[in-house]
Amino acid sequence: MNKSTPVFEHNTCKGCGGFGHHGDNRCKGCGGSGYQLTKRGFLAAQYLRSLRTDPITDDAKAANLVLALAYQATLMRSGLQRKGAVCEH
Ligand SMILES: [Zn+2]
Repeated sequence: MNKSTPVFEHNTCKGCGGFGHHGDNRCKGCGGSGYQLTKRGFLAAQYLRSLRTDPITDDAKAANLVLALAYQATLMRSGLQRKGAVCEH
């Protein structure tokens, strides 16, 4: 298994059952990867892409982003401690 596994929430492709192809034809449902991102996984991937492609030109923006991420990490950590492994992010 040398296919890269997506880090985002995903399901095995229903079209091909995770094989990525139908005989010699690449699966249209997943483009050959064998998986499909869930709606939440897709949004997370899109968000990450936007973070990577939007150049941060302003130092204040960069500082705000770091603060926001640190704040979110703190929330997630305290949420995990309180309610078990439920995470809405
Ligand atoms: Zn497929």
